[in-house]
Amino acid sequence: MRYPVMVINRDKVRRNAQTVADMCGRSGIDVWGVTKGLAGDPRLAALYAEGGFKGVADSRLRNLEKISESGLGLPRQLMRIAMRSELESLSRVCDVSLQSEPEIIRSLDAICARRGVTRQVLLMMDVGDLREGFWPLELSHAADYFSALEGGVEIAGVATNFACASGLLPSRDNLERLVSYRDMLQDSLGCELPVISVGGTCCLKIIEEGLMPRQVNQIRVCEGILLGMDTASGREIPYLERDALAIIAEVVECKRKPSVPSGEIGMMAFGEKPSFVDKGMRKRALLGIGRQDVNVDRIIPLDSGVRIVTASSDHLIADVTEADSMSHSEGGYKPGDTMSFRPLYPAMLAAATSEYVDVIFE
Ligand SMILES: *Cc1c(COP(=O)(O)O)cnc(C)c1O
Repeated sequence: MRYPVMVINRDKVRRNAQTVADMCGRSGIDVWGVTKGLAGDPRLAALYAEGGFKGVADSRLRNLEKISESGLGLPRQLMRIAMRSELESLSRVCDVSLQSEPEIIRSLDAICARRGVTRQVLLMMDVGDLREGFWPLELSHAADYFSALEGGVEIAGVATNFACASGLLPSRDNLERLVSYRDMLQDSLGCELPVISVGGTCCLKIIEEGLMPRQVNQIRVCEGILLGMDTASGREIPYLERDALAIIAEVVECKRKPSVPSGEIGMMAFGEKPSFVDKGMRKRALLGIGRQDVNVDRIIPLDSGVRIVTASSDHLIADVTEADSMSHSEGGYKPGDTMSFRPLYPAMLAAATSEYVDVIFE
């Protein structure tokens, strides 16, 4: 095996997908599996299909292209607001997209109509997270915006997103507002808008508590399925597997060194000025993984007693003095040993997109 590697446990991811699909299904909510956490890996998309998800969603068109080429049968949704330069490709690759600019929607409509296809659009609503989405004041113009569509685009519903730009959490109040925007749009457009889509993982809690308005019928989830975590609400999700993914790196050097450097301290390579506590001589393991591969303060060592000291682009330094006394391996860590970490969301993204980290499904 080549290191570093990120290992994905198929059974655990599939089980998480099934658990979430079942729970949401009981509330009449379809789950769309978000693949961006693993850079749109078609193997993940296939697991989502096995888990019972209704579609796959990603923020990158390139990722959806990969999934499309893999021949997966599930419908595909582009979640990031489309660039004008992407519309041609979007019309080929995606069944659904989240949109917030009337002019872009009209351009997509023209492109799809010319190609003789119809693609669904969900109108993205900003209910307060202040990233993408129509602002409610704009809704009074909806009839003008969409009166001249030529059948290339079908406005199928509304969508919103939480906890991305501002950390806004879903609540009964903002979810009911989303439903009311859908109702207003139905009136002004004079057609049914059947889909109300919410995301991401933080919305699971509202469903668990039975507080999701019954009109909401689609959720887009990534973090919960892959990591069993809900960073936005700051919780580990008790009914999901939290160790489906591991990042494994190899030890390249092990030496006892002082815990404080000698001499004047300047900036380290990443612009931070480190500080040190004198703990005497410590055993330090140097690993062949660095900031180019993971977000070092977003990985958790799986062996107890291992403490991450710091990292540069290509190396990570771990204090293994205590881990050695707990003797994880005979005689303690030595070059050639591997060390495993549990990634949090940013580290998972970094590892999935680093060309230096292999991703293995087992
Ligand atoms: C990433 C993303 C999601 C999934 O979010 P998680 O919290 O990781 O489940 C849902 N919707 C949109 C628009 C996203 O960008």
